[in-house]
Amino acid sequence: MKQRLITVAIDGHSSCGKSTMAKALARRIGYAYIDTGAMYRAVTLYCLEHGMIKGDEVNKPRLRRHIPKIEITFQVNEEGKSETYLNGKNVEKEIRGMEVSNKVSLVSAIGFVRRAMVAQQQAMGAKKGIVMDGRDIGTVVFPDAELKVFVTASAQVRAERRFKELQGKGDTTTTFDEVLANVIERDRIDSTRKESPLRQADDALLLDNSHLTLEEQDQWLYEQFVLCVKV
Ligand code: C5P
Repeated sequence: MKQRLITVAIDGHSSCGKSTMAKALARRIGYAYIDTGAMYRAVTLYCLEHGMIKGDEVNKPRLRRHIPKIEITFQVNEEGKSETYLNGKNVEKEIRGMEVSNKVSLVSAIGFVRRAMVAQQQAMGAKKGIVMDGRDIGTVVFPDAELKVFVTASAQVRAERRFKELQGKGDTTTTFDEVLANVIERDRIDSTRKESPLRQADDALLLDNSHLTLEEQDQWLYEQFVLCVKV
């Protein structure tokens, strides 16, 4: 029997492991995976490279003129991992660094940036069969998604995970306190912004994974998917 294709929307706080579980599910069920945070990160990198951010100010008129020139794509590498490309250049490593992390919430709060990204995301997911993660997937990008999950964990646990990840990537300069401050500040900006603030969709399932192992959360998500495609 052919299974119906659905849209899986995974939203939640920064560094709560959304991408890890979204990727694992996509691989297991043979769906495409789209990391929308990477798209906002790539726009932020573009702004930094073009001197459009001074302190906490983004030069919006300039960015607005440049937006049509910013092309973000994803390509699967030899190891099967999806990597982000900004105007044809692989930027996967740069977009994960602290410089981009510290500014991304400023850029993602801008209305015309969001509209441009949302339009691209809707086009990427138009045929269903995707797992998309972000902050507004279940509320704005795909409000009709068949499976919506809102993931969270305590700020301390999230900072510990992000800190370990940075250390694993060889970052020896960023301190734990800096990571924790970044997690808290991004939560604040993401949930209080005017444009598409981070919130749980009314019909989203809530998952607090503070005390779950990766295997447990992957299995939980897979079971929700199976329940959803069955009915
Ligand atoms: O998911 P990730 O932490 O990589 O996202 C980086 C930032 O991009 C978030 O802190 C948020 O400001 C922004 N974002 C967003 N909407 C999305 C995905 C990410 O505003 N759909």
